[in-house]
Amino acid sequence: MSKVYFTNLRTTPSSNLLTKMERLVKRAGIESIDFKGQFTAVKIHFGEPGNLAFIRPNYAARLANLLRSLGGKPFLTDSNTLYSGGRSNAVDHLRAAMENGFNPISAQCDVIIADGLKGTDFREVPLDGEYCKAPKIGTAIADADIVISMNHFKGHEQAGFGGALKNLGMGSASRGGKMELHSSSQPVIDREECTGCRICEKYCAHKAVSIGADKIAEIDYDKCVGCGQCVALCQYSAAVMGEGDTSEVLNCKIAEYTKAVLGDKPNFHINFIMNVSPECDCWNHNDAAIIPDLGILASFDPVALDQACADMVTKAPALSGNRLAEHHPHEHLEGEDKFHLIHPDTNWQSGLEHAEKIGIGTRAYELITV
Ligand code: SF4
Ligand code: SF4
Repeated sequence: MSKVYFTNLRTTPSSNLLTKMERLVKRAGIESIDFKGQFTAVKIHFGEPGNLAFIRPNYAARLANLLRSLGGKPFLTDSNTLYSGGRSNAVDHLRAAMENGFNPISAQCDVIIADGLKGTDFREVPLDGEYCKAPKIGTAIADADIVISMNHFKGHEQAGFGGALKNLGMGSASRGGKMELHSSSQPVIDREECTGCRICEKYCAHKAVSIGADKIAEIDYDKCVGCGQCVALCQYSAAVMGEGDTSEVLNCKIAEYTKAVLGDKPNFHINFIMNVSPECDCWNHNDAAIIPDLGILASFDPVALDQACADMVTKAPALSGNRLAEHHPHEHLEGEDKFHLIHPDTNWQSGLEHAEKIGIGTRAYELITV
């Protein structure tokens, strides 16, 4: 059974939320990690511009200062997104991070985009998992000595909820890695959209793409391994994947990517059950929270941590005036799986079960209130 530490959001003049978070992580044992001289990746989601539900940079600042006081070399990091929003390349991504306060003044820490300018800077971590043989992890995270995750706990349209596993597994994947996570099928070329720009041909590591006499990309399916790199790089939506995976398979893949991220490195995780929006912070808006803010939790075990948070959200009463209330007016929904009510096609349990099976952690936990 893993220990999960919890602090509520009540404060006094001598104990504000930053002080409470620091006390929480110390009580949970973060100081037992030897940070001296170690590159410490603090994996966090900077929030898509326009979304305001992400973790405030003030928390990152407090944690970064603590890690430095312990001798570490912390940096804030995330990988580029697959879709063409405000964080799909390092230039836009850094601007988005700065806009949301993840800059050396507000967050008191430098930001490194883990998979580089165009998402091509990654390491393949041998895993031989049931779903993923060699997850593609952003180099800055793959090369870090220690991994700390700060996770906004909220709903997610494909995974059910987003917590530590989602932030670590999906969030650390390079753009090609994200494609692998999102779909198991091979890419196809939309001939109407293809401009013959040759980007896919240039970056296909398996030499599976060529440009035909008609200046349209062609895929040799005998060579294609379905890595998704061409889809990630095509700027014209011409290289696209076929049918997507089920939520169950996606969550299992996320668990395997998380295993590749953590490896045998020291790691520690903090979940914030605040602004529990129905969907992920990748959207350029955050719909009204579905439950009240509950608190901050910390653990060495990301599986136990996510399970504890999911249980707390299940037990909590629903708020009114949100997506959940549209379909369940006048219902408190205490004891109901609210993430499943909002996203009925998802199965978040599958990810935690698979994570436990492959040895990342355990779903059994002891909740200790700080
Ligand atoms: S990157 Fe896209 S547009 Fe360019 S050749 Fe490949 S499929 Fe066509
Ligand atoms: S999915 Fe990967 S291997 Fe297949 S064509 Fe695209 S880049 Fe090449």
